Amino acid sequence: MSIILVVNVGSSSVKYQLIDMGKDKPVRLARGLVERIGLDSSIHTYIPLDGEMMRKELEVPDHSKAIEVALETLLDPDVGVIADRGEIAAVGHRVVHGGEKFSSSTIINDEVMEQIMECRRLAPLHNPHNIKGIEACRRLFPHTPQVAVFDTAFHQSMPPHAFLYALPHELYTEQGVRRYGFHGSSHRFVAREAARELGRPLSELKLITVHLGNGCSITAVQGGASMDTSMGLTPLEGLVMGTRSGDIDPAIPLMLMRTSGIHTEGMERILNRKSGILGLSGIGSDMREIEEAVEAGDEAGIRTLEVFCYRIKKYIGAYMTVLGGLDALVFTGGIGENSMVVRQKSTAGLEFLGIHLDHEQNRRLNRSRGRISRQDSPVAVFIIPTDEELVIAEDTYALLGGG
Ligand code: ADP
Repeated sequence: MSIILVVNVGSSSVKYQLIDMGKDKPVRLARGLVERIGLDSSIHTYIPLDGEMMRKELEVPDHSKAIEVALETLLDPDVGVIADRGEIAAVGHRVVHGGEKFSSSTIINDEVMEQIMECRRLAPLHNPHNIKGIEACRRLFPHTPQVAVFDTAFHQSMPPHAFLYALPHELYTEQGVRRYGFHGSSHRFVAREAARELGRPLSELKLITVHLGNGCSITAVQGGASMDTSMGLTPLEGLVMGTRSGDIDPAIPLMLMRTSGIHTEGMERILNRKSGILGLSGIGSDMREIEEAVEAGDEAGIRTLEVFCYRIKKYIGAYMTVLGGLDALVFTGGIGENSMVVRQKSTAGLEFLGIHLDHEQNRRLNRSRGRISRQDSPVAVFIIPTDEELVIAEDTYALLGGG
């Protein structure tokens, strides 16, 4: 029994993968995505190992139905990859917020479920969806172990001086207001892989991992442990993101609420959905559109790229001082893996810190994995595609006693 179902539930989507952990190397048996849940027509995309991609429009009113659709497809005699749901040894769930309760992945029981529910307060935009996914799977697989893998867990190693805000201390002790950090599975994965690339033990390395997807965050990793990270109480703090502002003066929302009559929900919408790359550019939230605009000499595109890369550069400098040096800088996520120009601009001028990009390698290795710094660069720079689903499957399998 080594087949793990990985489930990642978002507000209107369910991503899933079926991974067999019992072989020499993990084998991805199938993966799929149900999108537009609860809207007029939902879309199910499914790709079995060695099979053809399938895309279907269907009615999926809620997350529970989405997981049922996924399971039916995995069991389908024609396109499925398993014959019986009993072949699934465990289900691994991505859970965004684990608060201070969870510093590692855990098997879900009623008590853990209650604690995840308590964290809803800290992540009202994310945890409720994760909970729906877990509840649906507990109903569909009542006898199968369910495991929670938290985005926050990896960052629980941050020291208090990094995670405390300079706010009245009771806000931390009574309400848990502190920096938690997110994208933990991704930062943990690429840090481990960077150690492999360097051929050195993770325990002796100083690394900065830069995850640039729709959400963006950067982490200082020492000896395999997160020492500081750019996201905070919520995934809104830090780098500029697709539609999120990242760092701003906390007085800005206060001023807008006072002078423009914007209320909590409106403010939340501006900061989470109308800002970042989208807000700055007025073009869109997708970095590809910004790159095209820059190529065409568009002012809005240029300023967006500048702000985006400057923020990354500023954090690289800050985290090098946190770590007292650096062995490697790692780019990952949709933008980190695919955008030559972002990697180039966010490291330009950092030669004095030992970061020398090899521009030819940066171009040649775009969209793949490898070293993009010069051979004589004291700091190695890598592109490493992230694999959060694999981390979830590994943790789940390990908790079953495998791995
Ligand atoms: P998520 O955080 O939702 O998992 P991804 O990691 O897939 O998202 O990253 C999405 C981002 O990656 C988008 O901003 C998209 O513009 C960017 N991206 C994807 N492909 C490219 C590309 N070829 N060039 C530049 N950016 C890209």
